[in-house]
Amino acid sequence: MAMQCLRLLANNVPRATCTVNNVSRHIASLSMLPDTYQMLYKTCRDFAEEELKPVAAEIDKKHLFPTEQIKKMGELGLMGLCVPEALGGTGLDYLAYAIATEEISRGCASAGVIMSVQNSLYLGPINAFGTDEQKEQYVIPFTSGEKIGCFALSEPGNGSDAGAASTTAKADGNVYTVNGTKSWITNGYEASGIVLFATTDKSKKHKGISAIVVDKPTAGLSLGKKEDKLGIRGSSTCSLIFEDCQVSQNNTLGKPGMGFKIAMMTLDSGRIGIASQALGIAQASLDCAMDYAAKRQAFGQPIVKLQAIQQKIADMALKLESSRLLTWRAAQLKDSGKSYTKEAAMAKLSASETATFCAHQCIQILGGMGYVSDMPAERHYRDARITEIYEGTSEIQRLVIAANLVKEYGLN
Ligand SMILES: Cc1cc2nc3c(=O)[nH]c(=O)nc-3n(C[C@H](O)[C@H](O)[C@H](O)COP(=O)(O)OP(=O)(O)OC[C@H]3O[C@@H](n4cnc5c(N)ncnc54)[C@H](O)[C@@H]3O)c2cc1C
Repeated sequence: MAMQCLRLLANNVPRATCTVNNVSRHIASLSMLPDTYQMLYKTCRDFAEEELKPVAAEIDKKHLFPTEQIKKMGELGLMGLCVPEALGGTGLDYLAYAIATEEISRGCASAGVIMSVQNSLYLGPINAFGTDEQKEQYVIPFTSGEKIGCFALSEPGNGSDAGAASTTAKADGNVYTVNGTKSWITNGYEASGIVLFATTDKSKKHKGISAIVVDKPTAGLSLGKKEDKLGIRGSSTCSLIFEDCQVSQNNTLGKPGMGFKIAMMTLDSGRIGIASQALGIAQASLDCAMDYAAKRQAFGQPIVKLQAIQQKIADMALKLESSRLLTWRAAQLKDSGKSYTKEAAMAKLSASETATFCAHQCIQILGGMGYVSDMPAERHYRDARITEIYEGTSEIQRLVIAANLVKEYGLN
């Protein structure tokens, strides 16, 4: 299938026969999925090979936001992948989103996180909790990728402990006056819309947090400096500073006080996106290691023939495939309307630690060439690290998994 807008896939593709050849070299389990997913995979893989891989090193080196590439991803339908077609989206499900995000991230991890924040963290909660008017204003213009959004939960004083938000939104008449600083906001520089979490009733602690959609630019909102990061350097990360910023109360998502619940539900789906980003980085690391090991000679043979190298590539493939199955399982549970909090945390934990492991082993297999920027291995290593931190650190994922187990065993 040629690269074409993915919107056609949602309804028009017959699922009986597989028309895509040789697309499952790396992903054995993909061949068991319906054609729609295989075609989506092939489209995203071709796009990543042709449009992302060739520019990923430059985007990283120069800290460039990939404007042109994101525009093309919007044209393909990747920037509103799970939004219903009636709202201008592509109308695909979360399994499709996981497959697409992995392939995009395999080409460029910065493009992967920009796409993931747009789909899961910005469009996700507005699509789930917004009114028709809110969707008209804050979903429809964003699905083409012309506009992008961000999600503002973390603050300088609290990250993991998200319920301790100190940003306030004081109600007066029909407006909120917002004061406070949100930190580490991905897409903060380029965003035209913000899903903001602020305390509207301090006495209720985390039950007094509300989710509010904010336009950008807005009077009273300024940006902090762009963070100089270890990896994913093509995506912007900055603080959002609110000083007596006025926002209509009509922009509240759901009801006042629902913000913490909306944030946690949004992060459950976001973790599937970050798990998929991590899988893309891990797969890129394995691909790079295999290619190099086949060409590099030592002691009269390609190093891929050495058992010590084979042990490493076997461990990489094992962790990658098992993390992918966990990620797809979490996505399928979400798609079938079942609870998936524990499974999303397992997927994110496993895939992010796999990305770090695979990137580390990739450098080891490349030896000295792994340590210099002529090869992508060192970039994969730097890109991998963030997947263990954002949208809940690995420590927090373990807490989420354990809390769910305690509940399942009736021990709470
Ligand atoms: C590049 C980047 C992009 C980001 N993008 C966004 C974004 O778009 N929107 C947004 O809202 N936020 C974003 N974040 C913030 C990110 O989600 C937080 O950094 C993350 O949740 C961790 O919070 P923290 O940095 O405050 O660390 P802390 O919460 O201070 O944690 C420090 C350490 O203590 C550990 N720890 C904390 N609590 C516990 C506990 N109860 N048990 C065990 N260990 C614990 C943590 O695991 C960690 O190791 C981004 C961060 C980065 C670096």
